[in-house]
Amino acid sequence: MRAVDLIRDKREGGELEPEAIRWLVEAYTREDVTDAQMAAFFMAVYFSGMSRTETNALVQAMLHSGDVLDFSDIPGKKIDKHSTGGVGDKISICLAPLVAACGVPVPMMSGRGLGHTGGTLDKLEAIPGFRTDLGADRFRELVAELGLGLIGQTERLAPADRRLYALRDVTATVESVPLIAASIMSKKLAEGIDGLVLDVKVGSGAFMKTPEAARNLAETLVGVGVVGGKPTRALLTRMDRVLGRAVGNASETWEAIEVLRGEGPDDVRELTVELGAHMLVLGEQAKDEAEGRARIQAAIDDGSGFQRLQRVVEAQGGDPRAIEKRSGLPFVSEERVLTADKPGYIGAVDVEAVGRAGMLLGAGRAKQSDVVDLAVGLEILAHPGDAVSPGDPIVRILHRDARGLDEAEATLRAAHPIDALPPPATPLVLERVSGAPEGAQR
Ligand code: URA
Repeated sequence: MRAVDLIRDKREGGELEPEAIRWLVEAYTREDVTDAQMAAFFMAVYFSGMSRTETNALVQAMLHSGDVLDFSDIPGKKIDKHSTGGVGDKISICLAPLVAACGVPVPMMSGRGLGHTGGTLDKLEAIPGFRTDLGADRFRELVAELGLGLIGQTERLAPADRRLYALRDVTATVESVPLIAASIMSKKLAEGIDGLVLDVKVGSGAFMKTPEAARNLAETLVGVGVVGGKPTRALLTRMDRVLGRAVGNASETWEAIEVLRGEGPDDVRELTVELGAHMLVLGEQAKDEAEGRARIQAAIDDGSGFQRLQRVVEAQGGDPRAIEKRSGLPFVSEERVLTADKPGYIGAVDVEAVGRAGMLLGAGRAKQSDVVDLAVGLEILAHPGDAVSPGDPIVRILHRDARGLDEAEATLRAAHPIDALPPPATPLVLERVSGAPEGAQR
């Protein structure tokens, strides 16, 4: 086989054999196919799309570029959750211990923040001493003993994705549904899971800005999971407003802990209960979502979810007492408050810009090698549709020595229009996706 022929076929809109796709990924991994050829192939995929069969072949090739964990000797269905990324999305930190406390093992491997979105690993590292760089053996012990491990992806997990993602990042080929699906699912299927719940974000703070685009991605992701033999469900959830109030690492971790203590913002709690219910159904610990919701709520009310997080924190090197009070986490003391300059309603917020403002303060990374400041962040005090008068607070900005402060404030002001009428309200969960029609996906 020759890469140039496969690139030409794809450029002309042809459908490649699964064999050809496997060969291409393997040859790229061996460095027999060059970065230039792979970039050209990805651009051809960007324009021509891929059939379901091609997407599945790409997932399998990337999945088998490294180790595939096998947790079949650990009793129970192992279920994970993956979010396509948004602003203020701290759900994993409260969801995973609640689901584990309800008897479903959760082998959760997470990533770091990049660009306007945060990452669960950075947030967890706000807990003093907490380590996420544990290898596969320790991960297995945690899942077996506590029903929960919260670690970063190991080097050996879908290594092809690391190189391919870096290549896509610099060749404007990230925004392709089959390529996003292959990237996400090759890593998730390598985790040793039996099922997966996907939170596909929709709106100005998400990868997918419209319900149509998000549905297309969700159907592709679900299709890949099902063909891979893992029951998979997706919820399309709103990202046209920050989830909860907190943006930033320690702030988001604290807000997730508040949910575990029966407090916290309604939307964070509701989404946790909803995603948890689906995980319990897939994990065969609830007969339907209604029972699942009741069980997750009970694990909040009786404190078993919070206790499970404390045990995991201790097992992963952290201080379990640090998560008992806000002052146990690192916070800066300097703040500035963005206020309304006229009366009206908070309009359609540019949530991506809110995420960028957090990054300017140091809460996120512009590039992989940046170091994040765990203690800075934002507290959103007014959401879309809230009525404001001049001088009312909109966002509390937690900064360190004014780093990025003026630019962040200007970005936040531009991101929060004040209109004469409130925008239409969006439901928290827009749709549920469990089927997957066939057809070329772009
Ligand atoms: N997240 C991933 O892991 N990969 C993508 O391609 C996009 C989002």
